[in-house]
Amino acid sequence: MIRAKDPNIKTSVFAVMSKMANAYNAVNLSQGFPDFGVSQDLISLVNKYMIEGYNQYAPMPGVGVLREKLSAKIEKLYKYNYNPETEITITAGGTQALHSTISTIVNDGDEVIIFEPAYDSYAPVVRINGGRPVYVRLKYPDYEVNWEAVNQMINSKTKLIIINSPQNPSGKIFSDEDMLNLIRIVSGTKILILSDEVYEHIIFDGKKHNSIAKYPELAERSILVFSFGKMYHATGWKLGYFAAPEKITEEIRKIHQFTVFAANTPIQYALAEYLDKEDEYLKLPKFYQDKRDFFNGMLKDIGFDIIPAGGTYFQTVNFSDLTDETDFQLAERLTKKFGIAAIPMSSFYHNEENTKTLRFCFAKKDEVLKQAAEKLDEFYTQAKKQLNLF
Ligand code: PMP
Ligand code: GLN
Repeated sequence: MIRAKDPNIKTSVFAVMSKMANAYNAVNLSQGFPDFGVSQDLISLVNKYMIEGYNQYAPMPGVGVLREKLSAKIEKLYKYNYNPETEITITAGGTQALHSTISTIVNDGDEVIIFEPAYDSYAPVVRINGGRPVYVRLKYPDYEVNWEAVNQMINSKTKLIIINSPQNPSGKIFSDEDMLNLIRIVSGTKILILSDEVYEHIIFDGKKHNSIAKYPELAERSILVFSFGKMYHATGWKLGYFAAPEKITEEIRKIHQFTVFAANTPIQYALAEYLDKEDEYLKLPKFYQDKRDFFNGMLKDIGFDIIPAGGTYFQTVNFSDLTDETDFQLAERLTKKFGIAAIPMSSFYHNEENTKTLRFCFAKKDEVLKQAAEKLDEFYTQAKKQLNLF
């Protein structure tokens, strides 16, 4: 019999919930993807490079001009220089960058610190490489990090700490103080850091993204992962990249080359040209903050108690005063009976803890968010009636 290496791996909740949303024709705020189009200029550029014949394998680490543009972008924003030739690598999405990185670094018996709730792709890759995820819980409701707890979990087996800011699914962003705590914890150790920064440009309330690249003493032991899917509303193009010091990059590329060899060629050329339009990504904080506030405003008017996300395009909502169901039961009922799909937050905890919280993706057109709010209003009214509170 053939079995995936790790028997605990299930079908990703994103696949499950999007399938359910489609089957029941529900408004799909579950899996995270925008419903607005990719810029026509960018599409024309892809088209141009395809017509001009850029259709064969890219160099293994990615198209040179794209790596140069990315190096310049990181330097401009975060004041750290990555050599485009040896320290930046283009991947088939952030997912492949994460997979190749963890597969390179983690060996039998290694421990990897993961903050929960956590994006679903880290722990399975740690486990299939023989590693052991060690979980640190972010404190509800503001999802703060207990650095003392992190400190206590460090030992000679700790190989890697995975951070993700802005964080999916909680919307938590790492402050300067968080980063200084991280420096304190890893200094004097050989621990590496995998910093998932795919939401670097989706950060709110005037805050600036604290990239690892802003902290040279962390950058020299870190792998930074990014995604063009988030930058350009193009999650289906599956293009991303990672930046890391040469010695680390050299090793990860050994795995990368036998995972995809190289990522999609014409889109890489198009992205390289399009990156000159800085405003296309620098406008994202305002664009998504308006969406967050629009969605949250409607939910607040209904009566939901909400702590606004600090970044990402996800908003968590707690339902504990409305129903006794688990979050998964509620997500299923909302999809099937009310036509609105969300992700149960228990999916982001290794013990599937029922936090009675759901995650909604607000990267949607305003009219879709409005429809979603109407459906949630129906649910809320019915739930309150059942509790005899109206
Ligand atoms: N990390 C996080 C935190 C994500 O939310 C996602 C995808 N949404 C990824 C990585 C993967 O990025 P990609 O879609 O480019 O593979
Ligand atoms: N990152 C997206 C989310 O969090 C989904 C990615 C995926 O479907 N694998 O919803």
